[in-house]
Amino acid sequence: MKGSFKLGKIAGIGIFIHWSFSILIAYIIFINYRTGNSPAQIVWSVLFILSVFATVVLHELGHALAAKKFNIKTKDITLLPIGGLARLESLPEKPKEELIVSIAGPLVNVALAILTGFFIEFPDNPEQLSLLLSKGINAHTFFLNFYIVNIFLALFNMIPAFPMDGGRVLRALLGFKYEKHVATKIAARIGQLLALGFIILGFFVNPFLIFIGVFVIMGAQMEAEFTQSKFILKGYKVRDILMKQYQSIDANEPLKTAITLLLDSQSKNFLITDNKEAVGTLNRDQIIMGLSENGENTPIQNIMNRNLIFLDADSQLESVFELVYKNKSNLLLVLENNELVGTLDTENLIEFLLIKEVKSKKVYDT
Ligand code: ZN
Repeated sequence: MKGSFKLGKIAGIGIFIHWSFSILIAYIIFINYRTGNSPAQIVWSVLFILSVFATVVLHELGHALAAKKFNIKTKDITLLPIGGLARLESLPEKPKEELIVSIAGPLVNVALAILTGFFIEFPDNPEQLSLLLSKGINAHTFFLNFYIVNIFLALFNMIPAFPMDGGRVLRALLGFKYEKHVATKIAARIGQLLALGFIILGFFVNPFLIFIGVFVIMGAQMEAEFTQSKFILKGYKVRDILMKQYQSIDANEPLKTAITLLLDSQSKNFLITDNKEAVGTLNRDQIIMGLSENGENTPIQNIMNRNLIFLDADSQLESVFELVYKNKSNLLLVLENNELVGTLDTENLIEFLLIKEVKSKKVYDT
């Protein structure tokens, strides 16, 4: 994820932290200062934040290790102030597997809460509890606060809304009855309704809820569109959408040639060849950047993108879908028996999706 820094590696999984986590830390230090807490208390607070960091890592490792049981690897874990994100290489397809992988994270928090429970002398009544908590974090209240955070994290993550774990648990449960894209749609709508509630509540209670609400609405939309797209693409292969006609330019040609082609044709993406061999790609942004930095007479090979990505013509679209999206605005090359048979970019994919979507709606209408 953009704006993330690497902390280390656990069980072969890279652990990253997103810059926005620093806002949370700054906020906590700020609150400590404002209440006039002693340096010792600030140190305890920082220690506490670190323990929350560790908790979030453990929560995500819960997901990652559960996924490993179903042979799904985890690319990395990123800590966000909202809870953390384990990027699995693929998502469990079967409802039962998704249920186990999604619930494993919150279960880690439940386990941590139960474990810390043994070290806490629970106050007798709510007044005593709020008195204890009002003193901030110190040696005496550390475990109590840790306990509460874990209960909170378990409950918070179980909110039945994407991208929270609860959203996936809900989808998995619906998945026992409905097809995946239908289950996703229902779960996404339920989540968005809840999010709307958060936003309204946020104006009265805590502005942080507005932030969560917006996050959930966007997350749910993305999830619904993603599964819908995958559903539409099911059964189609790369060869069904590849472009057989594509513009290619020799790598030794000056940038001028590409500019002329860009202006004279519909193409925004070009294949760059050397002796008829593909050596790079060039898109509109790279042409504009090259023009402003190197001038129109610079050879194309100096500014082209040399990182070629190949797809097999027989690959399922469903499985290359994410790869194509990740390389937005770059041309991908399609091979058949090691021969270049065409190219593909995000625009082809989007056009194909739009056409199929309209067609499938027509079927429902009639
Ligand atoms: Zn989780």
